[in-house]
Amino acid sequence: MTAEIINGNEIRKAILEEVKAEVAQMKEKYGKVPGLVTILIGANPASISYVTLKVKTALEVGFKEIQDDQPADISEASLLALIDKYNNDPEINGILVQLPLPKHIDEKKVLNAINPDKDVDAFHPVNVGRLMIGGDEAKFLPCTPAGIQELIIRSGTETSGAEVVVVGRSNIVGKPIAMMMAQKGKGANSTVTIVHTRTKDLASHCKRADILIVAAGVPDLVKPEWIKPGATVIDVGVNRVGMNEKTGKAILKGDVDYDKAKEIAGKITPVPGGVGPMTIAMLMKNTLKSAQYSLKG
Ligand code: NAD
Repeated sequence: MTAEIINGNEIRKAILEEVKAEVAQMKEKYGKVPGLVTILIGANPASISYVTLKVKTALEVGFKEIQDDQPADISEASLLALIDKYNNDPEINGILVQLPLPKHIDEKKVLNAINPDKDVDAFHPVNVGRLMIGGDEAKFLPCTPAGIQELIIRSGTETSGAEVVVVGRSNIVGKPIAMMMAQKGKGANSTVTIVHTRTKDLASHCKRADILIVAAGVPDLVKPEWIKPGATVIDVGVNRVGMNEKTGKAILKGDVDYDKAKEIAGKITPVPGGVGPMTIAMLMKNTLKSAQYSLKG
């Protein structure tokens, strides 16, 4: 049987429509829309394209968007002052500093300077702690893990009591999604195992998974025989494995041997077109939430 494909592009579209509708309601009721500032330092081409996409999406859903581009030689003190300015701007609900930063700037110091209530990336230690506590305490969830959970929920996968195996223990994907799936609540209540480079028998853990979430960054790491028949497989990996000579674009592959895995899994995300499109959608959702919190006071 061929797996149901979980279409990240369609789910992204649906989420953005929902955000747009809520923004329109907010505007009508309170005469206010969520405000997002994107701070881009220097001219790294990949960063420019990420920021451009974030700005475009923010405008599409009706946010006030400020694109604040700064030169690569901005001092750390000036950048901290800029963040402070937006921390105190009531029109701004989300502050995004595009990474990576130039070497002379301490990335940790900069991210920690963002007011946790405007930290829509949810990388601030306060938000990491809130995620750990869970429930209403978790104001913002980090965008890629939040996107993964949303794909699981909207694909109709049962999570309560499910065996979830997460491959990878990074701070931006593996650890947060594992904690989120173990929490009490919607799209969670799972029994979670985290596996990583020091795990003894990766295959045996993966084979137990009702929901297998793979975020290792190793193309085709997960073999089809590691997948439990009928499992939901979420492939987070984005690996550049070559170049399409005709289009000049990178050929992307996930961490799961997709062509074979889709004959065994019950539901599966493709790469590209699965988790990838979700991250920016969840960023918009976090910014909307931040504005809603600020209206509640
Ligand atoms: P990372 O390199 O920080 O972490 C990878 C983790 O995988 C590590 O904890 C490591 O222990 C584990 N790992 C690596 N090789 C392994 C192996 N052979 N066996 C078992 N475990 C192994 O990476 P990350 O930032 O978590 O990203 C993981 C992948 O997800 C990358 O391909 C990245 O590009 C992709 N990613 C996609 C999105 C998105 O689509 N929006 C967002 C973030 C990351």
